[in-house]
Amino acid sequence: MENYKKIIADVYKDVKNVQDLGQTARFIPELAFVGTDNFGVHITMKNKENFGIGDFQKKFSIQSIAKVLSLTLAYKLEGEKLWERVDVEPSGNPFNSFLQLESDLGKPRNPFINSGAIVICDVLVRHLKNPKEDFLNFCRTLSNNENLNYNEKVAASEKSCGSRNVALCNFIKSFGNIKNEVAEVLDFYFLICSLEMSCEEISQIFLFLADEHFTTKKKKSVITVPQAKRINAIMLTCGFYDESGEFAFRVGLPGKSGVGGGIVAVHPDKFCITVWSPKLNEKGNSYKGMLFLEKFTTKTASSIF
Ligand code: GLN
Repeated sequence: MENYKKIIADVYKDVKNVQDLGQTARFIPELAFVGTDNFGVHITMKNKENFGIGDFQKKFSIQSIAKVLSLTLAYKLEGEKLWERVDVEPSGNPFNSFLQLESDLGKPRNPFINSGAIVICDVLVRHLKNPKEDFLNFCRTLSNNENLNYNEKVAASEKSCGSRNVALCNFIKSFGNIKNEVAEVLDFYFLICSLEMSCEEISQIFLFLADEHFTTKKKKSVITVPQAKRINAIMLTCGFYDESGEFAFRVGLPGKSGVGGGIVAVHPDKFCITVWSPKLNEKGNSYKGMLFLEKFTTKTASSIF
């Protein structure tokens, strides 16, 4: 752990001084008000030892990082039948792309592009009595943290500019792969994307993917070991959209980004690490987040490869 701490502090200093060539997301106006100088990192080891630096306790909009949590709950509820509705192949396309949906007859390539995450929300709306409360409670139980909340202002802001997601959802519904009302599914989707967490909270909530003996406070396991293996595999192959290969190549860990500027990376059996820096590269992934993680796994020699 001492070695990790030193390397994290060194790399943090290094990357802080790098000129940030990214931009904040433009399609969620509310996100532009976040200070672009924020930069935080937090690591939680499997044995719960942890370390943070910079703005690691400030909450931010986790956006697409929430897609891993919604997938986890849907997989838990639906089991292997889930894959009839959404595939597990990298798309090689931007996160909000329509391209393959037409030829794939409305079955999204994977649960982390918007189309796939919207289908997952449809599954949850069907299963949960009160999707909004039930999903939040699931996240709170998973992390043993009652301080998790949505930011309804961010959700409303995204909804006000959400034509592309509305179009995606309608398009999938035209193939019969959305069962509920489009408006209801999208309200839920925008809401889960608006979840707010700090780097510290994210690296804690993702421990269930790093520790195969993970249980909640009530000693309940969340998903099975093979299920966790599969979620990690989808994170490795699809977590960064058309930059997933690049992330595997440079960082070498399963991970997931969000347009709020957060990136979480999981080292199965070792740790979860989260970085937050709001400006994004042209693929929608945190510019400095990518850089930090590349240097971190290289210097610590702690990728899965
Ligand atoms: N809420 C965002 C959207 O639907 C999430 C995208 C992301 O974080 N990549 O566009």
